[in-house]
Amino acid sequence: MPTHILKAYKVRLYPNEEQQIFFAKSFGCTRFIWNRMLSDKIDHYNEHKTELKNTPAQYKKEFEWLKEVDSLALANVQQNLRAAYSKFFKGAGFPKFKKKGQRDSYTTNNQKGTVAITDSTVKLPKIGHINAKFPSKVNGLIKSATISRTPSGKYYASLLVETIVNELPKTHSNIGIDLGLTDFIVLSDGSKVANPKFLAKLQAKLAREQKILAKRREVAKADQRKLSESRNYQKQKLKVAKVYEKITNTRKDFLHKLSFNLIKNHDVIAIEDLNVKGMVKNRKLSKAISDSSWSSFTTMLAYKAEWYGKELLKIDRWFPSSKTCSGCGHLLTKAELPLQVRSWNCPSCLQSNDRDINASINILNEGLRLVTIKTVGATGLA
Ligand SMILES: [Zn+2]
Repeated sequence: MPTHILKAYKVRLYPNEEQQIFFAKSFGCTRFIWNRMLSDKIDHYNEHKTELKNTPAQYKKEFEWLKEVDSLALANVQQNLRAAYSKFFKGAGFPKFKKKGQRDSYTTNNQKGTVAITDSTVKLPKIGHINAKFPSKVNGLIKSATISRTPSGKYYASLLVETIVNELPKTHSNIGIDLGLTDFIVLSDGSKVANPKFLAKLQAKLAREQKILAKRREVAKADQRKLSESRNYQKQKLKVAKVYEKITNTRKDFLHKLSFNLIKNHDVIAIEDLNVKGMVKNRKLSKAISDSSWSSFTTMLAYKAEWYGKELLKIDRWFPSSKTCSGCGHLLTKAELPLQVRSWNCPSCLQSNDRDINASINILNEGLRLVTIKTVGATGLA
């Protein structure tokens, strides 16, 4: 069955000088209107104890230059601010003021072709066609575009597109996935997927560049120069930002390809539902876990399973996947299987178990058991 989905395409933009100025203005205006509306809301609340329902239009008389940017960009600020407020009333943190250079971006909506694309450009309201490079073919109806500028000075448009995906053919193959500590993931078919080597290299590079940045900060401080005026510091800061962006993009790319292949090649995919936040508190594990981006990986698996008509099952994190022998079901005690033990022989059936592969087989079996319960339950109702 085809499914309607919203898909985001990240498109690199190459604005000319005039367009860069327009973007800078737009980032500035959206940041200004956010901060101004927020501070007025706060003042109003302090005086009247109610929420001020202000709109960007009210500010256009006093600040005429707001008219120079896309009005939908300002309208979206109003909407985001409202959303941040209702989140706050539900217990989230209070909306924060935005600082310059901090995630410069604005969002506009497509109204009957105001946002459009050609093979090599993206058309935006008020500024027209901007040269662009598409990573893949954009199919479907564009709903909105978010323009952003990274700390290293690259421009992107994230296009939210409504499109249709078709289910992938069934393969009659199922798989269990365990989060590895040395490997990124370990699969129930016995294979292990390592963390990509280039990622480790980039991370080492990032650490080196950050050290240099810290030194330059010290030098500027010793010379009593402002960081904004220290050219060496700024140059290095840009370098760090570039490596960081490269890591983020490379990792995302790796996770996208891996999750897609797993979904494509299997019908039932079972994973452990790890509480990553709880685990990161454990210092020894924290680096391995944050590095491996487990939670973005499981998110990708979840929505891709839905898109492509496959079944993803999350196994309760208290399920003893490591301590159970996949051969006979014998359960070891915690003391019998300390974390450093990577393989063990079952005292009951003598099977030799690789710690992670054994865990992923148990995860798969548990997943298949849950699928059976679901299926029987569904037929029972019919
Ligand atoms: Zn056994």
